[in-house]
Amino acid sequence: MKIAILTGPKEFQFQEEQIPALLPDEVLVQVAACGVCTSELDMWEGKAGGDMYPRYPGHEVSGVVAGVGKDVQGLTQGDRVAVWAPGRGFAEYVVVKSKYCFPAGDLPLDLALAEPLACAVNTVELANISLSDDVVIIGAGFMGNLVQKLVAMQGPRHLIVADTRADALDRALRLGATHVVNVSKESLPEAVKALTDGQGADITFEVVGAQAPLNLVGDVTRMSGKAVIVGFHQGQPRQIPLGYWNWMAFQILNAHFREEATILRGMRIGMRLLTSGRLSLEDLVTHRFQLSEIGQAFRTAHEKPEGFVKSTIVIQ
Ligand SMILES: [Zn+2]
Repeated sequence: MKIAILTGPKEFQFQEEQIPALLPDEVLVQVAACGVCTSELDMWEGKAGGDMYPRYPGHEVSGVVAGVGKDVQGLTQGDRVAVWAPGRGFAEYVVVKSKYCFPAGDLPLDLALAEPLACAVNTVELANISLSDDVVIIGAGFMGNLVQKLVAMQGPRHLIVADTRADALDRALRLGATHVVNVSKESLPEAVKALTDGQGADITFEVVGAQAPLNLVGDVTRMSGKAVIVGFHQGQPRQIPLGYWNWMAFQILNAHFREEATILRGMRIGMRLLTSGRLSLEDLVTHRFQLSEIGQAFRTAHEKPEGFVKSTIVIQ
């Protein structure tokens, strides 16, 4: 089978590998699609973990069960599944534990992105939104859009989305934001104040992973409100004025999830929403590439051209 591996910064190579033998609790999945994740861009650029190559990205897999280990129950050959793969997903086949597979129903498989959805599900559940809450989402990329869609299901009053890109804000409006703010042109704190009788937001989600949006969190959240850090804060250490955040009695929530049980639970909930038609990713998967075009797929995810939200590799 063919697999794409990262052999150096911005350098993919294709290798032929043997299809591995299955352990009793494993499943062989013929990969239909594998999403390109923002968290993989650092290793692609050569920024993550020095120069440890080769590396095997690809964890947002969907596909069709092609074989099952002898102890696997509830999955059979031909089942369509969304999968959390421990890497190696940019390949024709991948082997995963059976508990990492979730039914994909009759969803188009390139839209069955269970793993990123799990992050968004867990984030929104952690924030524990109340009906009529005023919610600010800073960052209208793929993850911000997912969080926005799920927050909208929880019945907020104002759903205010902030970004610096006009196309991202247009999309946020189409997805149901009640207000959008271009922070390169307007003051987000003033806009939020005006909409909340000077109080500030009940909940603010920071979904960028940079210093500037982190600063804004403290400026737009009300006293005792929730500051939810969703962005992936790699690289340079960030600063927050903890004295002020402390004085404001913010509930600071770290929306990064590492425990397997939590991630799997988020995937199950996300797939129930997708397969029931309550949620769709159709408007978010904007760029599709073949396996041979994987370099271009990563470049596109890195450059984020106008209209870009998410790229995926469609394998068969
Ligand atoms: Zn991911």
